[in-house]
Amino acid sequence: MSIVIYNTIKRKKEIFQPREEGKVAMYVCGPTVYNFIHLGNARTFLNFDVIRRYFIYSGYDVLFVQNITDIDDKIINRAKEEGKDPFEIASEYTKAFHEDMRALGILPPDIAPKATEHVNDMIDVVSTLIRKGFAYVSDGDVYFNVAKFPEYGKLSGRDLEEQQVTVQSDDELRKKKAPLDFALWKAAKPGEPSWSSPWGKGRPGWHIECSTMSMKYLGEEFDIHGGGLDLVFPHHENEIAQAEAYSGRRFVRYWMHSGMLNIDQEKMSKSLGNIRLLREVLEEHDTDTIRLLMLQTHYRSPLSFSDDSLHEAAAGLERLKTCLFNLRDAITRIGDDTAEELSSYEADVIKRVDGLKKQFREAMDDDFNTALAVGSIFGLVKETNAFVSRILKSRSPKAKTVMGSCLNAIEELTGALGLNVAALSPISERGNIVEVGMRGDSSGRQALSVESLIEILLEVRQAARERGQYEIADIVRDKLSAIGVRVEDLPGGYRWRMEKITGG
Ligand SMILES: [Zn+2]
Repeated sequence: MSIVIYNTIKRKKEIFQPREEGKVAMYVCGPTVYNFIHLGNARTFLNFDVIRRYFIYSGYDVLFVQNITDIDDKIINRAKEEGKDPFEIASEYTKAFHEDMRALGILPPDIAPKATEHVNDMIDVVSTLIRKGFAYVSDGDVYFNVAKFPEYGKLSGRDLEEQQVTVQSDDELRKKKAPLDFALWKAAKPGEPSWSSPWGKGRPGWHIECSTMSMKYLGEEFDIHGGGLDLVFPHHENEIAQAEAYSGRRFVRYWMHSGMLNIDQEKMSKSLGNIRLLREVLEEHDTDTIRLLMLQTHYRSPLSFSDDSLHEAAAGLERLKTCLFNLRDAITRIGDDTAEELSSYEADVIKRVDGLKKQFREAMDDDFNTALAVGSIFGLVKETNAFVSRILKSRSPKAKTVMGSCLNAIEELTGALGLNVAALSPISERGNIVEVGMRGDSSGRQALSVESLIEILLEVRQAARERGQYEIADIVRDKLSAIGVRVEDLPGGYRWRMEKITGG
C-alpha cells in the first residue's frame, strides 16, 4: 500500500517515496500576519492539515513546519493605515491566526518559525548566493540574478520570454539587471523596521524567508512543500531558485498545491467585496460543517463556497451525528452477544464495513481524494442505520459485536480526516457523567423553560428505568425523539440534546 501524490513540478502523480523510510518532512507556507485569514487561506491550511493527518494515520512520523511572515510590505502598510507599530500589527494578527487555526481544528505545526527571528540565517543564505555569483548588490538592495539559474521556470512551466512581470516602479527597474530578478534583501526606508547587514540596514524579501527557514528545520532536500495554487509563481519558483542555487541540490521532492476557493462561483476579491473571513463564518457555523464542506471537494479542484453548500454540509453532519448517537444508544441498550455463530446477515454487514474502510484508504492513497473518502463514511452511516433499525425488529445473535465494528469504523475514519463528530456535544448531561447546575432564581425555584420540562420528564423516565419499567421509559424516549430531543443512556445516567434545525 503506498500513497500517490500529484507533484506540481512533474505535472503528474507519483508514488510517494520519502527521503527517509517512514518519515515525512513537510513545509507549508504560513500567513503574512497583517489581517484575519479568509476562507481561501483557511481552505489551504485545512487541506494540508488533512494531508498531514492522513500520513500520521498511515503510520508515518511527520515533521510539519509552517512559518509566520511577520515582516513584509503588507504589514508595514497596514501599520501606517492604523497608525500603529508594524510589530504590534504582526503580533496582533499572529495571535488571531492561532485562534482561527484552533477554532478550525487544525493541528498546530511542530515548528512555527517567525521570519523576524531568523534574519541572521537569511543574511547567511544571501551572502552565500552573492559569493556563488547568483545574486548582486544594488544600492543597498540585493537581487537574485535569474539569468544565472537556467532552470528558472521549471515549477510553473512559464515561458520566461513571454513572461509579463507585474508592474514595477522605475526605481526598482533601475536597480535590477533584468525585470525578472527579485529582491533577496531590501534597503530600509525611513521609519521602517530594519536589521543590520553587510549591505547596510534593511530587511529580508518574502521569498528568502521560506527557503531559509524550511532548509534550516527540514534539511536542504526535504519531502513535501505545500501552499495555495497562487503561490506557484513567483513565490515557489523563487524559493526553488534561491535554495537550489544555495545548496547545489534538489530542494523539494514533492510540490503540492491546494486549489482556490470561490464564493458563489466568483473569485473572492477586494474589488468584488465578497471576501469572507473564517472567523465570521465560524460565528454561525460548526467547525465540522466547514471541514466537511471543504473535504467534499478534492484539494486540487476549485471549491465553490455558498450558503447552500454550507446548509448541505450541515445536514450531512447532522446525519452523521444522529447515526452515531443512535448507534451508541443501541449499544448501551442491547443485551450481550449470544453463544451462537454470526448470522449470515451479520457477517455480510461486517464484510461491507471492512470493504468501506478499504475503499476509504484507496481513495486517500490516490492523491488524498477526500471527496471519495467522505463517500465511504456515508456508506458506513447507511450500513449502520440499516443494521440498527433491523435489530429492533429481528433477532441478531452478535449485534453488539457488529455495532462495535460499525462504531470503530466511523470513529476511526472521521478521526483520520480531523472531523470531531466522535465527541457529541449534548446540551445537557446528567447522572454520574456531568452534573449540570439547575437554572433557577435566587430562591432556588426552578425557572420554567423547555429545558426544565425535559429534565422533569427524564427524571421520571430514569425512575421508571430504575424500577425495571422499561416500556414506560421507552415511551418517554420515543415521544421525545419525535419532537427532536435525543436521549442517550449512559452507565449510571443519561444525556440528551436537541436536534439542530438545518436546511435553509
Ligand atoms: Zn513560502
